[in-house]
Amino acid sequence: MTLIINEDKCARCGVCDAECPYGAIAQTEDAYVIDPALCTGCVCYGAPLCEAACPNDAIHKTKDSLYKKCLGLFG
Ligand code: SF4
Ligand code: SF4
Repeated sequence: MTLIINEDKCARCGVCDAECPYGAIAQTEDAYVIDPALCTGCVCYGAPLCEAACPNDAIHKTKDSLYKKCLGLFG
């Protein structure tokens, strides 16, 4: 699992950036983006902190192998 930001819903408030414990969210010229190489899906926190913090419901889960990647790193 990883997370993506829906540009159409994102208000560019920066709350998710401040919330991410891994520095995986960055502001580009046009939007906020999540770096899949840094995002762990917050599996060690039980739920994605950025998704919970976003006031606009702009962050959503996608399915991929990152959950397994994190387990490999921390499990
Ligand atoms: S918290 Fe939500 S609305 Fe704010 S920058 Fe992040 S994705 Fe966009
Ligand atoms: S799920 Fe966690 S690690 Fe990934 S971008 Fe959101 S806060 Fe950062």
